[in-house]
Amino acid sequence: MATPAAIPRELTELRGVGPALAEKLARLGVTRPEDLLFLLPQRYEDRTRLVPIGALVPGSRAVVAGEVALAEIVFRRRRSLLCRISDGTGMLTLRFFYFSKAQQEQLARGRRLLCFGEARSGPGGLEMVHPEYQFLGAEEQVSLEQALTPVYPTTEGLQQFRLRSLATQALERYLPLLPDWLEGRLPEGTALPGLREALQVLHRPPPGVDLARLAAGRHPAQRRLALEEMLAQHLSLRRLREHARREAATPLPAVDGLRERFLAGLGFGLTAGQQEALAAIDADLAQPRPMLRLVQGDVGCGKTVVAAAAALRAVENGHQVAVMAPTELLSEQHRRSFSRWLEPLGIEVTWLSGSLGRRERQHALEAIGSGRGQVVIGTHALFQEGVDYRSLALMIVDEQHRFGVHQRLALMQKGATGGQHPHQLVMTATPIPRTLAMTLYADLDNSVIRDMPPGRQPVQTIALPDRRRAEVVTRVREAARAGNRAYWVCPLIEDSGELDYQAAESTHAMLAEALPELAVGLVHGRMRPEDKDAVMRAFAAGKLQLLVATTVIEVGVDVPEATLMIIENAERMGLAQLHQLRGRVGRGAAASHCVLLYQAPLAELARQRLEVMRETSDGFVVAQKDLELRGPGEVLGTRQTGLAQFRVADLLRDADLVPQVQRLGRELLDADPGLAESLIRRWIGDADRYGNV
Ligand code: ADP
Ligand code: MG
Repeated sequence: MATPAAIPRELTELRGVGPALAEKLARLGVTRPEDLLFLLPQRYEDRTRLVPIGALVPGSRAVVAGEVALAEIVFRRRRSLLCRISDGTGMLTLRFFYFSKAQQEQLARGRRLLCFGEARSGPGGLEMVHPEYQFLGAEEQVSLEQALTPVYPTTEGLQQFRLRSLATQALERYLPLLPDWLEGRLPEGTALPGLREALQVLHRPPPGVDLARLAAGRHPAQRRLALEEMLAQHLSLRRLREHARREAATPLPAVDGLRERFLAGLGFGLTAGQQEALAAIDADLAQPRPMLRLVQGDVGCGKTVVAAAAALRAVENGHQVAVMAPTELLSEQHRRSFSRWLEPLGIEVTWLSGSLGRRERQHALEAIGSGRGQVVIGTHALFQEGVDYRSLALMIVDEQHRFGVHQRLALMQKGATGGQHPHQLVMTATPIPRTLAMTLYADLDNSVIRDMPPGRQPVQTIALPDRRRAEVVTRVREAARAGNRAYWVCPLIEDSGELDYQAAESTHAMLAEALPELAVGLVHGRMRPEDKDAVMRAFAAGKLQLLVATTVIEVGVDVPEATLMIIENAERMGLAQLHQLRGRVGRGAAASHCVLLYQAPLAELARQRLEVMRETSDGFVVAQKDLELRGPGEVLGTRQTGLAQFRVADLLRDADLVPQVQRLGRELLDADPGLAESLIRRWIGDADRYGNV
């Protein structure tokens, strides 16, 4: 039997593709001819219809035909050529900033033109800037495209027509050879087309295609591909998980009473949610296979205590724990909590920070290497070159959404000593809706802490325009008089911290003047850690009643007497950040308030965010809304990490496909694991490599 013809693997097999073009294509993730079939248009232009000028909608791209009524050069601000055309239904201005003499002469009164461009509102009515155009003979029939024109994602130096012709070539030569691995696996009577048909439709939508559905991503062709893409993502995570589970890990059973002594010294009992999470962790840790567990829980539910209790399992078995935070500041907070809890038990907590001097760093590295540092805290620098653990048995990753899955599992490889892989505990305050968790976190077991420590009262939240600031100052005064403390947070203006710091400084000056009877402190990201610490401690001890801060405190301190949180320019902050900040109050028994100051007028999205904050203090609801307003990529930080950069699928829109994805995932793995591999290669490419960071 003849083997079926296969699609060649070299891009240069394509007509017209040499090394230079291949390199540009690689930037788009196209490294094999087959990849071209999966490089899908971002949008479509409709050049199949002639739009009467009178029916043009600003912002739309359209084909129009008309007769030149007037062409003139004007010198307002910039020399430009304006050409007015009319088709009897209306007038349109064509505006050119760059033009030749010949062009100007050709655009003479009475000439007929066919134009394509984006209609915009201009000073004298609708206009098109630098439209594509061609001349029509007096009686010439207008000839239009037969199909929608696809617009591909591209990269510098690669023009649309080039991509279109490459796609056409790939469609003609290779689409018929492309295997459809889901053929016969979709439910009877499914409304979804086959793979080849779906790709054909998306690359070259036929006339009459449902444009609105296509634009909304709900066309059956898109659904068919979204299903396959989500399946590939899901399989990739399952595969990563299986690889990871096959590794060996050191079992960490309970050996002495360290855990009990720790709990007894806390001064409070664990909540039911904390106990449950800890029991699941303990069961995992006792296995000779690496734990891969995610603990989700709202800000303030007490995840850090759970992490510390888990860390003790490693310590009492004579091994080390690495606690990894996404930022230096978070790592500092952990250092503080862990030191406070663990040092009284005789455990050495080591902090590896970018801010350490050479000697201190050397000292920390030595503690890590010798095993004397039993609990090691830091950022991803914990796994940099030159950091060697004596015997790492557990990694705790806080706020996991900022790390990619591949990155995290790779760390597990790096952290292995003597063939033993560390267990992984991942903590996040971003509650992840179930559909997302099942697709995106298919590699992790899941625990959710739903309860809060007893005695917490929900924080009352109000939003006020900036001009009512004086009332807010009065509230601060009253809170202080009642013996409570307040935060006044200024937003992050830019990453450098320079402007941030200025904004916080002037706010500090303003408040110190308005509230002379209060001790007002200032803390910002550019202070030295010792100085920051000193201010935080003074606030915690009640020596300061008002703390002006940049978003530094988002992750910083834990002061139960703080009952008032004021957030400036709240309209600029995201929901997750607002929720985190608000979580800094309401930690004690007294009623707490959060005031969101904003600059009017509010943009629609900002208005919705503030509304969500006023309506709910439930982190799961906030996260769900955040997801709806921003989309999963931004919420989970997947844009930055490269994880789950979906091309077609949208996890919210296509959430109803998840059960099918899971069923297909099981079936494919049972029937033909090789197929699973091929699907992963097709959609995720070589980025999906276990062990790469
Ligand atoms: P998370 O990291 O989940 O946001 P933390 O671990 O920082 O929360 O805990 C918030 C505060 O609640 C800390 O001051 C912590 O000591 C305290 N806490 C944690 N668990 C309990 C509990 N079960 N009872 C009372 N207070 C608790
Ligand atoms: Mg925390």
